[in-house]
Amino acid sequence: MSKIHNFSAGPSILNQDVLKKASEAVVNFNNLNLSILEISHRSKDFVAVMDNAVALVKELLEVPQGYSVLFLQGGASTGFLKTILNFMKENGNGAYLNTGAWSKKALKEAEKLGSLTVVASSEDKNFNYIPKGFSVPDNTDYLHITTNNTIFGTQIKNIPTQENTLLIADMSSDIFSRKINVSDYAMIYAGAQKNMGPAGTTLYIVKDELLGNTGRTIPTMLDLTTHITKGSMFNTPPVYPIYVSMLTLEWLKANGGIEWIEKINQEKADLLYNEIDSNPLFEGTAAKEDRSNMNVTFVLTDESKKAVFDSMWKEVGISGINGHRDVGGYRASIYNAMPIESIQVLVDTMKKLIN
Ligand SMILES: *Cc1c(COP(=O)(O)O)cnc(C)c1O
Repeated sequence: MSKIHNFSAGPSILNQDVLKKASEAVVNFNNLNLSILEISHRSKDFVAVMDNAVALVKELLEVPQGYSVLFLQGGASTGFLKTILNFMKENGNGAYLNTGAWSKKALKEAEKLGSLTVVASSEDKNFNYIPKGFSVPDNTDYLHITTNNTIFGTQIKNIPTQENTLLIADMSSDIFSRKINVSDYAMIYAGAQKNMGPAGTTLYIVKDELLGNTGRTIPTMLDLTTHITKGSMFNTPPVYPIYVSMLTLEWLKANGGIEWIEKINQEKADLLYNEIDSNPLFEGTAAKEDRSNMNVTFVLTDESKKAVFDSMWKEVGISGINGHRDVGGYRASIYNAMPIESIQVLVDTMKKLIN
């Protein structure tokens, strides 16, 4: 079988050694002669997986005291709801920075469950930039941001921390890709399936002392306090996605952690953006200063080359680079597990396309 270069936006590429270990555990986990899929989540072998996954998140992201790390279900899309129910006061207001399709889905939930203020939006230019220099009104309970806009290929480079405003971030598509300052945030959440593991679990990092202040009645499963009290084991956790996430975080740690991957991610992004900028047949779609290091969006300057280019990249085993329907063109998702060699294959293919 020839090698596939997997640029899928999500679910997306996982490290090959991680996949191998994960597949072995399906048949025989920890030499128990049992599958990880058929043991109790309360067994000591699985509890050790959960503890290790939580410890790795804390270590890799230098999570300070006073924050809880949770592995829950429901996807980042349930995080939109949990944000409101756990942080927006009964008659309160949430501030939202509208930078793309996921931000918009997050703020739509606030429309349903409370009230909101859109502090700035880049919708006027099809979300191809990150608005800056906005202010957040005093009467809001939090500011919600999407740190990386998976569909539109933009990324917030300077986190807009505001005095006296709780910051909540959807980091689904760039968590563990660069250094972050957890103490800037009231809550961070991220679906696993972009940069941490397979679909099926969502990571929450939440500052404990901020919970329980909304005056709302929160359904048990949506109340973060439930899950903090029970160590993510209030109900059956998604054992396998947590296990594969743990393996991925072990891989990250063994290679040098966030400092290591951030440098590589920069090299990878530079390699591809340099080709986009120097090759007259291609053009980036995002404002240069806001370009994502995770999702690289670009278009052909001459649409008549599309059929030729598409057959060229398919020929060399590239997969998953068709752009999202809202942007068109191409999107190369170059998450942590994507080796630079695969990006070189894409760049070489772009160079071969001639006028
Ligand atoms: C993929 C994605 C989501 C949706 O996550 P689900 O886990 O499918 O609910 C939300 N936000 C961002 C930024 C994403 O990239």
